Amino acid sequence: MSEIMKVQFFDYSRVYSTEAERYDNVLKDVLYRSDFIMRDDLAKFEKKLASFVGVKHAIGVANGTDAIWLSLLAVGIKPTDEIIIPSHTYVATAGAVKMIGAIPILADCGEDHLINPESVESLITERTKAIIPVQLNGRTAVMEPLFELSQKYNLILVEDEAQGLGSKYKGKMAGSFGIAGTYSFFPAKVLGCFGDGGAVVTDDDNVAIKVRRMRDHGRDVQGKIRMWGYNSRLDNIQAAILLEKFRTFERDINHRRKIASIYSEHFKDIKEIISPPSPNDEGSKHYNTFQNYEIEVESRDNLRSYLAEHNIDTIIQWGGKPLHGLTALGLHGKDLSRTELLFKRAVLLPMNQYMYLNEAEYVAQKVREFYGAK
Ligand SMILES: *Cc1c(COP(=O)(O)O)cnc(C)c1O
Repeated sequence: MSEIMKVQFFDYSRVYSTEAERYDNVLKDVLYRSDFIMRDDLAKFEKKLASFVGVKHAIGVANGTDAIWLSLLAVGIKPTDEIIIPSHTYVATAGAVKMIGAIPILADCGEDHLINPESVESLITERTKAIIPVQLNGRTAVMEPLFELSQKYNLILVEDEAQGLGSKYKGKMAGSFGIAGTYSFFPAKVLGCFGDGGAVVTDDDNVAIKVRRMRDHGRDVQGKIRMWGYNSRLDNIQAAILLEKFRTFERDINHRRKIASIYSEHFKDIKEIISPPSPNDEGSKHYNTFQNYEIEVESRDNLRSYLAEHNIDTIIQWGGKPLHGLTALGLHGKDLSRTELLFKRAVLLPMNQYMYLNEAEYVAQKVREFYGAK
C-alpha cells in the first residue's frame, strides 16, 4: 500500500468533479428553462423526499437550520418555552430554538452517542414544550422511550435529521417519528447539494401548510398573503441537483456502509476502540447510513497526531466541543457526564461516498498500527 496516500476528511473537490457530466446536464437543462425559484424541480424533489421518508408532506427550505426553526414555529413553540435538545449536537439545533426566544435545555447522551431519555426526563419542567432528538451520524435513536415521554408529559417531538436521511429504526425512517423532521442538504451531508439546502417533512397537514407559507413570505399557493412569513425557499436549481443525486442515494449509502464494514472489521480485536455497530451486525432494529464514523478511543490525541503524520485527516465533531462547552453561548443542562467523557475520547474518521475503499483500508491499517496491531 502506498505510503504517500493522503486522505482528507472530506474532499470537497470530489463532490462535483467525479460525476461532472451528469450534473452539467441537469444544470444546463434548468438554466435554459429559466426555472429559478419555486418551479417544477422543487415540487418533484419534495414529492420524492416525502415518498422516500414515508410521510405526506416535504417542504424544501433554505437550509437545515431554517428547517428546525420553521418547524418549531409551525408547531406553535413560543418565547420562554423550554425545548430539550442533546448537548452533543451542532450549534444550529440550539440556534433554531433561540431564534424564537425559546430556551434550549441540554440533555446528556447515551452509549449510542444520541440523546439519553433518562436525562431528558430529569430535565422536564412545567415550561417544557418539546424534545428535539438529533439522529446523529446516520443513526436513529431507540425511539420508544422518547415517544413515551412525549405522551406522558404532552411534549412535541421534532426530529433534527440533518445527519439522518435514510437511517431507520425498526424499519421506520428517521424523520417520520415526530410531528416534523428536518433535513440539511449541506454538501457534506449524505444527500448534499451544491450550496445550502434543507427540508421539513411531516404527516400533519396544518404544519405542512404553515411551513409552506412561512418559507415564502406567508403566501398561499395562489400567492395570497395569509400570515407573516420569511424567505427561506430551496432554490430550484439545488432541488434539481438533489433530485438527480437521489437517483443514486442507495448506491452512496451502500458505499458508506462498505467503508463502515472495513473499519469495523479492522477494529474488532482492538480493545482501545469502541466502534459503532457494524452494518453486518446491526440486527433488524437499526439501519445506519454513516453520515459520520464516530469512535471512542484511548489516547485519542496521540492517535490523531499519528494519523496526521501519515496524511490522514480526522476531526472531533463540532470543533471539539459539545454545546455546554461553548462559553460564549451560556447554555446549561444537568449532569452531562457521558457527553463530557465522549468528548475526551471521540474522533471522526474519514467517511463519505466520495472516498475510495483503498483509502478506508489505509486509514484502518494506520489505526491498527497505532495500537500495535498488525
Ligand atoms: C448540518 C447540521 C445542521 C444544520 O444544517 P445547515 O443546513 O448547515 O443549516 C443542524 N443539525 C445538525 C445535527 C447538523 O449536522
